[in-house]
Amino acid sequence: MGRENKSERNYLLQHRYAITEDDFARMLARQGGLCAICRVVPGTFVDHCRATGQVRGVLCFNCDNGLGHFADSTVVLELAALSGGGGALAGLGGAA
Ligand SMILES: [Zn+2]
Repeated sequence: MGRENKSERNYLLQHRYAITEDDFARMLARQGGLCAICRVVPGTFVDHCRATGQVRGVLCFNCDNGLGHFADSTVVLELAALSGGGGALAGLGGAA
C-alpha cells in the first residue's frame, strides 16, 4: 500500500509542479527538513510561483496558507523570515 501512495504522490508532484519526488526530497534536505519560512515545522507543501510555475521551496501548512492570503508578497516573506528569530537581525548588525 505504501508503494501505491508513493507513486500517486510522485504523479501529483510531477503533474502539478513538474518535479519528482527526488527533487522534493533534495529541496527539503537543503532546508534541513524544515519549512522554508518559519523553520520550526517540517515542510510538507510545495511552494511555487503562480506566475512562472517555478518551485521555490517546501513550506508547512500554515506558511503555505499565509502566502496564499497575502497574494505572494515578497514583503511577507521578509517579515516572516525576521519574525523567525533574532538570528536574522543579529546577522544584519554584524555585517555593518
Ligand atoms: Zn512554516
